[in-house]
Amino acid sequence: MRKIFSLLVIIIFFSCNRHNTDTGTKIITVSIAPFKYFVEEIAGKDFRVNVMVPPGSDPHIYEPYPEQIIKLRQSVAYISNGYLGFEQAWLDRFYQTNRTMKILSLGEKIDLIVPKHKHEGEQIESADPHYWVSLICAMIIAESVKELLCELNPGKIQNYETNFRNLLSKIREADEKARTLFAEVKNKSFMIYHPNLGYLARDYGLAEISVEYEGKEPPPSRLKELIDLAVKDNLKTIFVQREYDKKNATEIAHEIGADVVIIDPLSEYWLEETVDIIASLHQSFIKSTK
Ligand SMILES: [Zn+2]
Repeated sequence: MRKIFSLLVIIIFFSCNRHNTDTGTKIITVSIAPFKYFVEEIAGKDFRVNVMVPPGSDPHIYEPYPEQIIKLRQSVAYISNGYLGFEQAWLDRFYQTNRTMKILSLGEKIDLIVPKHKHEGEQIESADPHYWVSLICAMIIAESVKELLCELNPGKIQNYETNFRNLLSKIREADEKARTLFAEVKNKSFMIYHPNLGYLARDYGLAEISVEYEGKEPPPSRLKELIDLAVKDNLKTIFVQREYDKKNATEIAHEIGADVVIIDPLSEYWLEETVDIIASLHQSFIKSTK
C-alpha cells in the first residue's frame, strides 16, 4: 500500500511539474468561442485561449464557474463582446478580479444596430450583440484582436501582421462570394427563432424575421402573425440556434410545411460556420422563390 502511495506521489509530482511548464504559455480569456478563432488565426499557439461561455450555453444569461474565475486570474487579457447579457452582469467583477489584464471590448469599433424605439440613454445597453456573425464586422474584429496581440507580444509583430492580412483576405473572399450568392436571389427574408443574424442581414440587404419576441417565447397572437408572414413570403426554412428550444420553430414549420435548420453561430470554427450559415440562407431563399 505504502509503495503504491509513494508511486502516486511521484506521479503527481511529475505531472504537476509538466503542468507548470505548460502554463508558461500566457492565457487570454474571451467571452465566446468565435473570438478564440481570431486569436488563434493571428497568434497561432502563442497564447492559450480560455473561453468563458462554453459550447451549448447561452451567452445572454450565463453564470461562470469558480474554476473559470481562477483561469481569469491567470489571464493577460480579456476580450469581450461588450453587449452580451452575461457580460453586463459579470464584466466589472472580472476586471476587479484581475486588475492587470489588458481589456479589449470588440463592440467599441463596431457600427452597432440599436433598436429605434429606445431612448438615448438606453441605447448602448440595448445594442444587438450578435455582430460577430458578420463578415464585414469580422474584418474590424480581426484588426482589433491583431492590435491587442501585437501589444501583448511585440516580438512577434511581423508574424501577427502577416497572419492578420491572410485572415483578412479569407474573410474578404467569403464576403465577395456571399455578395454574388445573394445577388442571384429575389426573396431575401428569413425566419429565425433567436434573432442573431441582424448584422449579416444588414450586410447583404436581407430581412430577418424573429420568432422570439423581446427576448422571450412569442405569445400565441404573435405566433399566428408569424405563420401568416411565413405563408406570405413562402418561407420554407425556419432557423434555430443550437442552444435554443426548437418547440416554437417546429410548430411554425409544421404549420407552413417548412424545415427547421439548426445553425451554430457560437462555434469556435468561426469562418467555416459563418460560410455555412450564408449557404443555408441562400438555400432557403432559393426554396422560397420556387
Ligand atoms: Zn444571442
